[in-house]
Amino acid sequence: MTEPRPQHPTQDLTAAEQLAADQQAGALTQAPAAPAQDFDYLIVGAGFAGSVLAERLAASGQRVLIVDRRSHIGGNAYDCYDDAGVLIHPYGPHIFHTNSKDVFDYLSQFTEWRPYQHRVKANVDGQLVPMPINLDTVNQLYGLSLTSFELEDFFASVAEPVEQVRTSEDVVVSRVGRDLYQKFFRGYTRKQWGLDPSELDASVTARVPTRTNRDDRYFADVYQAMPLHGYTRMFQNMLSSPNIKLMLNTDYREIVDVIPWRHMIYTGPVDAFFDHCYGALPYRSLEFRHETHDAEYLLPVGTVNYPNDYAYTRVSEFKHITGQRHHQTSVVYEFPRAEGDPYYPVPRPENAELYKRYEALADARPDVTFVGRLATYRYYNMDQVVAQALATFRRLNSAAAGDPQGSEQAEQS
Ligand SMILES: Cc1cc2nc3c(=O)[nH]c(=O)nc-3n(C[C@H](O)[C@H](O)[C@H](O)COP(=O)(O)OP(=O)(O)OC[C@H]3O[C@@H](n4cnc5c(N)ncnc54)[C@H](O)[C@@H]3O)c2cc1C
Repeated sequence: MTEPRPQHPTQDLTAAEQLAADQQAGALTQAPAAPAQDFDYLIVGAGFAGSVLAERLAASGQRVLIVDRRSHIGGNAYDCYDDAGVLIHPYGPHIFHTNSKDVFDYLSQFTEWRPYQHRVKANVDGQLVPMPINLDTVNQLYGLSLTSFELEDFFASVAEPVEQVRTSEDVVVSRVGRDLYQKFFRGYTRKQWGLDPSELDASVTARVPTRTNRDDRYFADVYQAMPLHGYTRMFQNMLSSPNIKLMLNTDYREIVDVIPWRHMIYTGPVDAFFDHCYGALPYRSLEFRHETHDAEYLLPVGTVNYPNDYAYTRVSEFKHITGQRHHQTSVVYEFPRAEGDPYYPVPRPENAELYKRYEALADARPDVTFVGRLATYRYYNMDQVVAQALATFRRLNSAAAGDPQGSEQAEQS
């Protein structure tokens, strides 16, 4: 760990600096001096990455200051009640799923769960069909009555041979052929990423499986559940330790030189940390249109995808996802955007190259640890971010205990 950062109160004070200066002046002239707030950790961002680390470090006796420039905790997983009293996800639907018992057990300390298996339908050729593509999708779409075995042969007959699967287009056409690719993936990917699937890493469409059975669950993970009282309540429980102080509506730059800390954990965009010195890393953003309707339900399932029509990619209905009973219902439409809050790192080889340059800068900062989706420029789900944060905690802990071997093992886990 490094020494606390020096303070440099001068002209041009920010509000936080002014406050600290006033408090210091007051302490000198009026009240007996209060002990300085000396934090072991300054954590930037109160999403999954920051909150897991705050909780773990606080539980091990460290004093933590966690700041977020937004007005709430939870990062993109934040949920709240809208004007109608429906529990919504302002940053788009967040469905929890994981194969990691460790991650599930860890989060279970802070929430009870409601079992929930997400289902998605795609609006294709005027029909609502199951997505990911399964036996019913193909039979319904083409008016067939294939069995699972016959569907395997069907896919083999329409699949296009691809010598080396490199792009998102390669992944799909080599598995289910061009027609299904065009109906389900091409338009959706173009809308979502502003790029043709032939220009995107294979990893993007490889996330979506193809099934020959009738399983219509969107995810196949062992653990699929939603926090019973919502994500925000779970985050509140994680951050409830007296060792944790929370500052909202605060960009870390406002306080970084004012409040003493020993080590920083940064979970914001890595390029912003280094003032975009190599240029901006490309992120994809979204605009959300939230609506409330006087109906019990609007959609047959949690999400309906629109691969080919309209400017939005999908519509999601929260009551399916949260299980809330209410006489009205709230939905969200997602409109992909090039500009706006950074949501999705864009997986392309040249972006990975650019990230490597920022990663080298990050590696040269022993006083700062970079964790999370934006700080490590990875297309991570919530459970992967939790796993990454838990591994980071083990590494920090081992390093503090002077056990480099332990820290290496934690790095690999
Ligand atoms: C539309 C959408 C849908 C998703 N759906 C799912 C899903 O269904 N299932 C799933 O598992 N995952 C989903 N994800 C992914 C999930 O949101 C992320 O894995 C998770 O939120 C990442 O957590 P994080 O802590 O790394 O980042 P974030 O949640 O982005 O938190 C980072 C925080 O840092 C703060 N910050 C940044 N810069 C500063 C600064 N300078 N000063 C102070 N604070 C700062 C930000 O305000 C933010 O609150 C979805 C993501 C999106 C965008």
